[in-house]
Amino acid sequence: MQRSYPEQELHICVAMHFLSNNNFCHSPILALELKWLSCVLLDQAKEAMEQGEVPVGCLMVYREQIVGQGRNEVNETKNATRHAEMVAIDQVLDWCQRHSEKTTDVFEHTTLYVTVEPCIMCAAALRLLKIPLVIYGCRNDRFGGCGSVLNIATDYLPNTGTPFECIGGYRAEEAVEMLKTFYKQENPNAPKSKARKKD
Ligand SMILES: [Zn+2]
Repeated sequence: MQRSYPEQELHICVAMHFLSNNNFCHSPILALELKWLSCVLLDQAKEAMEQGEVPVGCLMVYREQIVGQGRNEVNETKNATRHAEMVAIDQVLDWCQRHSEKTTDVFEHTTLYVTVEPCIMCAAALRLLKIPLVIYGCRNDRFGGCGSVLNIATDYLPNTGTPFECIGGYRAEEAVEMLKTFYKQENPNAPKSKARKKD
């Protein structure tokens, strides 16, 4: 919940820029960066869809650089925990090793951008890692851990990391559109429904 870092202020500006209809963003350079950031983010979700995965993509931004990015890899790995956030967390761990940075320091100054509200599992992981700020696209009505089902982000939960701030609605329309498109087409990896044979 602390906002003592300048880069965090910037990321809040990023979100506000897209959330507000009026021109909140004053700097053309900032606007350009935001455009680039959101393109990379949505590309991750698109890539997931192209690979037959639920289209969710995310980015981890530490001091103005992307240190981790991920998309759903559940079907590909046959591992139900390989959500975009988990993939990105592993990348941050690799990044820390390559740059000889302390993982706790990096996570505590990292903003997560994700196209869909983190699920309960991922929200718990983010809380344990003490990620201070999460900017997400659309709500996750079935599994959301940032208020839609449970509020792992801000509830009082002793000995479970640090509460984090969430801003929803960032490029939400595109995120929803991708999910709709995905679920409209037959999910080749979904188990066959018994309800199909009705005749
Ligand atoms: Zn998740």
